[in-house]
Amino acid sequence: MSQVISDIKSKVSIEELVSQYVVLKQVGRTLKGLCPFHAEKTPSFIVSPDKGICWCFGCNKGGDIFNFLMEVENLEFNEVLKVLAERVGVDLENHKLADRLKKSDKMLMVEVNEAVTSFYEEKLWQTKKGDQVMEYLLTRGLTEQTIKMFKLGYAPDSFSETNNFLLKKNFSKSKIIQVGLALSKDISGSSIYDRFRGRLMFPVMDGLGKVVGFGGRALIQDQEPKYLNTPETKLYQKGNLLYGFQLAKNNIKKRNEVLIVEGYMDMLAAFQNGLDNVVACNGTALTQKQLSLLKPIAQTLVLGFDRDNAGREASKRAFELALEMNFDIKVLILPEGKDIAEFCQKGSIKIQKIYAQSPLFIEALYQEVINKYGHQSISEKRKILSEFGPYLLKIKSSIERDEYIKRIALDLDLMEVQVYDEIKLNSMSKNSGYVQANAIIEDVGNIVKLGPQEILIGLYLENTKLFFNNKINISQDILSENLKTIYNTYQEQYTPKDKKEVLFKRIWDGLTNENQSLISLVTLYVGEKYGDFSNESLLDEVDKLVERIRYDNITNLKRRLHRELQHAEKENDSQLIEKVLQKIKKLSFND
Ligand SMILES: [Zn+2]
Repeated sequence: MSQVISDIKSKVSIEELVSQYVVLKQVGRTLKGLCPFHAEKTPSFIVSPDKGICWCFGCNKGGDIFNFLMEVENLEFNEVLKVLAERVGVDLENHKLADRLKKSDKMLMVEVNEAVTSFYEEKLWQTKKGDQVMEYLLTRGLTEQTIKMFKLGYAPDSFSETNNFLLKKNFSKSKIIQVGLALSKDISGSSIYDRFRGRLMFPVMDGLGKVVGFGGRALIQDQEPKYLNTPETKLYQKGNLLYGFQLAKNNIKKRNEVLIVEGYMDMLAAFQNGLDNVVACNGTALTQKQLSLLKPIAQTLVLGFDRDNAGREASKRAFELALEMNFDIKVLILPEGKDIAEFCQKGSIKIQKIYAQSPLFIEALYQEVINKYGHQSISEKRKILSEFGPYLLKIKSSIERDEYIKRIALDLDLMEVQVYDEIKLNSMSKNSGYVQANAIIEDVGNIVKLGPQEILIGLYLENTKLFFNNKINISQDILSENLKTIYNTYQEQYTPKDKKEVLFKRIWDGLTNENQSLISLVTLYVGEKYGDFSNESLLDEVDKLVERIRYDNITNLKRRLHRELQHAEKENDSQLIEKVLQKIKKLSFND
């Protein structure tokens, strides 16, 4: 097993893997970016290519390539092993591991989904009914290439065809129900029927391109609902996924900008027409989780929701959420009544041109409010201020906010102070949802604080040679159990010709998960804090730390003895009193 792991590690670099999720900036010997595990505004996520690890000082998560992928894709170790082995062409069969690695529940679920994806594709491309569906897709403006690329398919209009196919492939009834492809007719689950019947099927994939669920679109007029989705399963959680993300991810990163649309068809149409940095939020309200997938790779968010009332409301909610996460937010404005798919097909102007002209969301909102009400009467003016004001207050830049106040004053023929007072008054009278939204995203950047023991061991791990050359030994009795283990392992394995990084990587695999976390934390922390210290200052710091730890230990011991003394006095135990007093005396003497 360890052979396979080191084999894969030698082929996948941590910075390359992390770069697929986070924009990294080189800072000295490490790289920094926004943490993909928690929502944050300032980077506290560090990658060390030398050590082959990453760590977030905000949420205290990270590790090597395996730990990272497990955390970011929410996978188990076996699944990550399989994904990485496939990616770099390491054959698990060769290592006789394929049998030993039990397939996880989720891996099996993906297998069912991928089998049925091919089945649906075959029904689309190779049946008579499929021809009609294909006809429909082509008239909606999609090309065969797009249809293939996104693996669209057709679910036959039958209660049993799909599950019969899967049963023949030896998937169990309970598995087919579990992935959401069939429903049970009774409690025992012995009799099942297909969930998706007579629908156009959009496979939804996770960030790694594995099919985790489906959206099924109705094909005849009165078929309800218009869109039927996979129910929430272990694999498919609508609010955590973005449709098209697996293909758009790199383009989003390149442009530092993402277009978010509502539906599958909009996403495909935009992608096909050159807006390849597009994702869809699966027809739900945009969630914080979805935004936190995007934040580490894009600063600007362009909202491309429908311009009907529901779409406008969804846009406003998305705007508030995205503003909290410090995105720059724009809005794509298409001519009234057209969705993206329609526009791409029939519009006389190219969508790319419209996209490039997307105004800031706040500006579009202002225009909208101004146009909605006249602005002659006092009541109209008040309506404008009460509707636009709350959004204005959310803008963090005071310069930008003041700019708008000036403009509004001019447009409404009011004094700036009047505008300001009215907006503030409105905000106070409303139960402030703003504060609540704020509390969701507590920016925890750089909260980690290490004790002197941890820093001392961190200094030792980062400067083993210096300690060795100066014959500095750390006394075992000042270390906690975990730190002792780490220190001893290093002492045993260190040879003067070892490079720091080589030693680190060699020791890594033999440590427990807990100790792996600990050495990631302490070495990266020390690297950040003491990276540019001279040897002399480092040795100085070591002295201070040792002194500090001894002082802390003695203080703790004294405190304990005094408590013991109090206890003995209360019990009137003269023998014990004498014993404790002796100890205290000895301790003071040693001081
Ligand atoms: Zn974090």
